[in-house]
Amino acid sequence: METSTEGMPEAHSDGPAEAGTDTASATAAAAEIPAPRAMAPASLSPSRAGDFMQCPLLYRFRVIDRLPEKPSEAATRGTLVHAVLERLFDAPAGERTVPRATSLIPGQWDRLREARPELAELFADDPEGERLARWLGEAERLVERWFTLEDPSRLEPAERELFVEAELESGLRLRGIIDRVDVAPTGEVRIVDYKTGKAPRPEYAEGALFQMKFYALVVWRLKGIVPRRLQLVYLGSGDVLTYDPVVADLERVERKLLALWDAIRLATETGDWRPRPTKLCGWCDHQAHCPEFGGTPPPYPLPVAGSEQGRMGPD
Ligand code: SF4
Repeated sequence: METSTEGMPEAHSDGPAEAGTDTASATAAAAEIPAPRAMAPASLSPSRAGDFMQCPLLYRFRVIDRLPEKPSEAATRGTLVHAVLERLFDAPAGERTVPRATSLIPGQWDRLREARPELAELFADDPEGERLARWLGEAERLVERWFTLEDPSRLEPAERELFVEAELESGLRLRGIIDRVDVAPTGEVRIVDYKTGKAPRPEYAEGALFQMKFYALVVWRLKGIVPRRLQLVYLGSGDVLTYDPVVADLERVERKLLALWDAIRLATETGDWRPRPTKLCGWCDHQAHCPEFGGTPPPYPLPVAGSEQGRMGPD
């Protein structure tokens, strides 16, 4: 992800796109919101767990109200680069070269647009295609940088874009999509995640590893194997962050997720979803509905214990 989006949640795989926007576009989006398809939360992914930790009201807007969000260039570029890195492994090891990888970009962009027609609006105001060309060039540089961090000719992933889901003893279902799983001849498992943004400063590394420990917990619960290594590959800055988890780490993450889930269930039942403003609000698509920005949330669409109206709904 480009420098200007540092700190922004990275969009990929397991939920609605995390999108950057400004207040004006959020207001425009709010005016066109279709009838909500309200749902009580049924499972937890790293992205949605991150949403709740960042701001409970943001979680509500995304998971329960399912308010639409505008696609962003940065998030979409992340999705495109992920697709290219995944598809490159279709080629024989000796052909996984930089030119081969970058040649995949136009075709993967076409596929992405076909699958998600709403992405056409990203470059609707760019008739000459200059911004699109720049954007594709940035995707190319991210792909090229990957080759300075890993050598795909020496890798044979056991899995790519692997959907995983596990149910904990409490009944909480955890799910997500792992970018790559490598398995050594010894059976040791490495979980790899690509980030198109920059590596966090050391004091924020724990937050970045949360997603990886989440996946490690799911793999452990599914297969009974504690992954040997968790690896975050930051294409934006050219850094690799690794962590070798132990059982105590995963037990700690499990306890944290159970506490989080209790808090989510309580908020779901009471309708009490508090906004938690931070600098990340600048990337939130829902300022027009957020009391912190003078907005009003839509009527709470789920039954509320002991009340006919959610607390965050209008009078
Ligand atoms: S604008 Fe900020 S406080 Fe409001 S919902 Fe979005 S993230 Fe939460």
